[in-house]
Amino acid sequence: MYFASDNSAPASAAIMAALVKANSAPVPSYGADPWTKDAEAKLNVIFEKDCKVFLVATGTSANALSLSALCPPWGAIFCHKEAHIQVHECGAPEFYTGGAKLVLLEGASGKIAPDTLRAAIAALPRSDVHVVQPAALCLSQATESGTIYTPADVTTLATIAHQAGLGVHMDGARFANALVHAKCTAAELTWKAGVDVLSFGATKNGALACEAVIFFDPGKADSFAYQRKRAGQLVSKGRLLGAQMSAYLQDDHWLEMAAHANAMAAMLSAGLAQTPDIRLAWPVQANETFAILPKVKIDALRAMGAVFYEWSVETLPIAERPKPNESLIRLICSFMTTEQDVMAFLQAASK
Ligand SMILES: *Cc1c(COP(=O)(O)O)cnc(C)c1O
Repeated sequence: MYFASDNSAPASAAIMAALVKANSAPVPSYGADPWTKDAEAKLNVIFEKDCKVFLVATGTSANALSLSALCPPWGAIFCHKEAHIQVHECGAPEFYTGGAKLVLLEGASGKIAPDTLRAAIAALPRSDVHVVQPAALCLSQATESGTIYTPADVTTLATIAHQAGLGVHMDGARFANALVHAKCTAAELTWKAGVDVLSFGATKNGALACEAVIFFDPGKADSFAYQRKRAGQLVSKGRLLGAQMSAYLQDDHWLEMAAHANAMAAMLSAGLAQTPDIRLAWPVQANETFAILPKVKIDALRAMGAVFYEWSVETLPIAERPKPNESLIRLICSFMTTEQDVMAFLQAASK
């Protein structure tokens, strides 16, 4: 009953096998290996576009570097107030951009609303030397509340951003989970909807440590090779990343793992929603379930071996927040989660 995080899961057997295979002979370094080239070619096919692809080892570096390509040190980056870049990256976006300011936006269910974005951009007038200049919008896909921006949502927000001269970044640490839910193409969820740069996560969905920064507008990637190197994210044995990404994308492996994780979350959340003293905080659209439970039940579940985190209630409207005897918990399913894990948890939670 391990629901703490999708990066607590191991790497998939296929990805580990690819790593071992890539370890058998000398190949060119710094990303000139055949697996990195294969991963780049596969991403171009998946996204139906000639993209510029840069592999890195962590999601934080993917995000912070992406934003540094879109935003000058005096720029403003608009994001949800619960965004990973704000809450869980130790100031990396500010550090890598040389001091850009994150402008935090409210939004129900982890999502930024169009009017909120419009008002926040308007509050920072162009050419006013006293204020940071609007430079980038960052959308988490899936969001920190486990919800999804549809292609229409992304289009609306990206249009507002582009009209104001901003670049659009998508933090796709759980992009595969979002894509499986959205039932559209990878292109429709990204560049066709206005995304300029994507952090394409693999680590949480079955890789060991690998993310891709994908530029849909190659013109915005001119300096990125230097930015990545300077940040210490140009891995010399580039095959370590290339082999992971190549295997991740092979034969829809990534989509199958995400579909499984989402299916487990759907089963878990459906069961919890039917349990009398439990309610879901937000709709479950990807692999994350947020539920409000009595504290005694949380203690009992932990005593039975369930592993999960209690979560911040900040994004819940006051009226929907846990009562004093309740808490909000986050349950994450991964490609490794089994039906037995889910059934065991539901059984324990029903007591
Ligand atoms: C996990 C996660 C990341 C990446 O985190 P790292 O620990 O740096 O790999 C980025 N964004 C979101 C929304 C995440 O959940």
